[in-house]
Amino acid sequence: MGVGLGPDQEALPSLPPVLTNSDAVGSGVLIVALDSEPMTVIVICGGLVAAVTLIWVGVVMRRLKRRLREISKGVEQFSAGRLDHQIGKASGDSTELTRSLNQMAKNLQERIDLLKAQLGEQRIIHESMSTGMVAVDLEQRILSVNRAAERMLGLREKLAKGRSLRDALQEPELNLFVSKAVAEAKPTSAEFTLVRPRGATVHVAGEPLRGEGNKPVGVLMLISDVTRLRKLESLRSDFAANVSHELRTPITNIQGYVETLLQVGTKNPVETTKFLEIIKRNTDRLAHIIEDLLALARLERPEMSAAVERSMTGLTPLLDSVIEEFEPAWTEKGIKIRCEVNGDLSANVAAPLIEQAVGNLLSNAIKYSPPGSAITISAKEVEGGQSVEISVSDQGPGIAAEHLPRIFERFYRVDRARSRQLGGTGLGLAIVKHIALVHGGRVDVESKPGRGSVFRIVVPRQ
Ligand code: ADP
Repeated sequence: MGVGLGPDQEALPSLPPVLTNSDAVGSGVLIVALDSEPMTVIVICGGLVAAVTLIWVGVVMRRLKRRLREISKGVEQFSAGRLDHQIGKASGDSTELTRSLNQMAKNLQERIDLLKAQLGEQRIIHESMSTGMVAVDLEQRILSVNRAAERMLGLREKLAKGRSLRDALQEPELNLFVSKAVAEAKPTSAEFTLVRPRGATVHVAGEPLRGEGNKPVGVLMLISDVTRLRKLESLRSDFAANVSHELRTPITNIQGYVETLLQVGTKNPVETTKFLEIIKRNTDRLAHIIEDLLALARLERPEMSAAVERSMTGLTPLLDSVIEEFEPAWTEKGIKIRCEVNGDLSANVAAPLIEQAVGNLLSNAIKYSPPGSAITISAKEVEGGQSVEISVSDQGPGIAAEHLPRIFERFYRVDRARSRQLGGTGLGLAIVKHIALVHGGRVDVESKPGRGSVFRIVVPRQ
């Protein structure tokens, strides 16, 4: 804004630019300045400049203070973890510094999110692993336990973390293994049986955990439950041994009698016939064992359950046909057979397989029962009509309690010599069990020595 001067004031020295240009100068001040000595004018003007400067500095300082307060509050928010806070957003005051701080917080948040995602993924992988994982430090304090290890060792990570493995877990072999792995600081492995929770056999691999400068900082243990595997291996080798044993006896007999025949010749027809009959009995036995083994192998195939063809079958005709098939055997021993079926009961089953299973049970009942005794075959609805139960009960010698849990195992016999003498292969009940299993059913037995036995097959009706 310009300042107007009268014509009589033109002789005065021109005003310094600060006075002529400043908005802060009023007309009253100008009159004082015009009336005063030049020195006074300078002093006044200096004072004015100082006052204006002071006011300006005050304003600037206030703004600066407000900004600093805002920045300090923002940094406090960041350090409290609220990295999405925007410094200067509320006041609309954006500067290079606030922009940089906000960007830094955003970058930090992105990194944290990334780390969180990576940690989450690792956690999911650890938790989903069927292999147990336990990490300990050099003092054998537990750093981490995954879910599989919790299950195998009966540990809870929440309770165990930070505790010494020795205190958290009374497993002498595992503790010894960890001490060795920590001391040696190199990959190691072992297999042993745990004391708890259920005497599982485990394979443990120990890997040293390394920190900065490749220094060992602990041990990571990977634990696999190999109980089932070892059991299967032992079953397989037992099975191979049993099969060889079962086949060896008839083969040795056949070999022996063939050699004798070759030596003595066939001049004596009575002896020749006797030897040939023995050879035939043994070849029949071999054929019987192989037939049963093949039947079992077929039934044990995993796809068998789905592949087996079922149809709605009346149980009365099915059981009658089995009874008829064994008629020569039961009439020979003077055994009376009773068949009890509830009405026209039917079930969705593979008839040939159920006939085979009931046939095996009836054959055993006839084999082991005394002459003149009675056998009852019955079928009824159970489980509210959801399943049918077929049972074969006899008045035979019965089975002692200690044998009952193993009676359906392959080649398990109470009296090996008697079973062989009666032509048994030791596979009959195993076949019965697998036939029930492919139908989605089960078998059981109730027996007391001297009181006879009841064998039951339960299969779903539909
Ligand atoms: P085996 O061919 O020897 O009869 P199984 O598997 O059919 O083989 O039966 C296994 C064993 O169970 C038999 O050796 C016998 O000791 C016993 N067992 C089976 N059924 C009966 C029964 N009804 N009464 C008494 N013992 C039986």
